[in-house]
Amino acid sequence: MTRHYNFCAGPAALPEAVLERAKDELLDYQGRGLSVMEMSHRSPEFVAIAERAEQDLRDLLEIPANYRVLFLQGGATMQFAMVPYNLLGLGGTPNYLYTGIWAKKAIAEAQHLGGAHVAASSESNRLTAVPRPEDIELSSDAAYLHYTANETIGGLAFDYVPEPRSLGDSSVPVVCDMSSSILSAPIDVADYGVIYAGAQKNIGPAGLTVVIVRDDLLDRGRADMPSLFNYKTLAEAGSMVNTPPTYAWYLAGLVFQWLKHDVGGLANMGAINQRKASKLYSAIDNSGLYSNPIVPGNRSRMNVPFVLADDRLNQPFLDEAEAAGLLNLNGHRSVGGMRASLYNAVPEAAVDTLIAFMTDFEKRRG
Ligand SMILES: *Cc1c(COP(=O)(O)O)cnc(C)c1O
Repeated sequence: MTRHYNFCAGPAALPEAVLERAKDELLDYQGRGLSVMEMSHRSPEFVAIAERAEQDLRDLLEIPANYRVLFLQGGATMQFAMVPYNLLGLGGTPNYLYTGIWAKKAIAEAQHLGGAHVAASSESNRLTAVPRPEDIELSSDAAYLHYTANETIGGLAFDYVPEPRSLGDSSVPVVCDMSSSILSAPIDVADYGVIYAGAQKNIGPAGLTVVIVRDDLLDRGRADMPSLFNYKTLAEAGSMVNTPPTYAWYLAGLVFQWLKHDVGGLANMGAINQRKASKLYSAIDNSGLYSNPIVPGNRSRMNVPFVLADDRLNQPFLDEAEAAGLLNLNGHRSVGGMRASLYNAVPEAAVDTLIAFMTDFEKRRG
């Protein structure tokens, strides 16, 4: 068996130790004589797995007691609709920051459900920098402010939390799509009203979505929302209104254990991620062949897009990278170029190997 280095943007690399553990437990979970996949979600065994996972996530992110954690299906994309349904029951206008393709999709869904105000946009700098706090103009009736912490396709990341408190209004909750950056470094959950993330980048396999919601926001839902969208109903049912994605939840739990015990927590993870990303950006900046357009302060530590000076070298680059065991370096189909995603489970050695490959490729072909 050979495992290559996987730079996929999602579904993404998982820690090898997690896959090994899942393999060991696949047919017979801890002597119970069945797989986690085959268990009732209401069985004591699975409830214990679910509660352990939630507690480990709470420990890792230091989630305050007045926040609920939901383990759902539907992906981050379903949250684009669930957020407005859950937060607009008292009226008001949802406010959004536009920073790239994912923010745009979130805005489109809110518009579809009744309208949205774009409070600031990165359009004027062609998505190379996030709006600064002083550029954010909330509507007077803002129901919430939504932003995308890390634009996975553009490689553009916020270097601050755009919290309305600092804009002079403490009543506007901040909603964050943290799909591609959650658990990559410590955050202060208290800065947010709602955090959501599809699992398949930094949490676990596809099919699971994590939502962290402050409990005073559970009573703002629109009356016309489907019951399975309702954060309050979901919270009261322990995310088990219907069958939750049990195996993905279990695997996410193994990833949380890995982060706690193998990595040693999010401060360590953050330092490792910082090192991985800085190395790759400096290799790009010091080369004549590769380039990245994002302003240094807003460069993503998770997704590093870059282009080659000569488009004709794209295919040879990808072919040779794959032959060298470096997988999934092609950029998103909408933007082209290259992208190396450096999520938590991508080891530093993968980044070192990638940089050595890029340097060698430039020498030979650049
Ligand atoms: C991947 C991603 C999404 C979409 O996630 P799905 O789980 O496929 O719906 C949304 N937002 C961001 C920032 C992402 O990286």
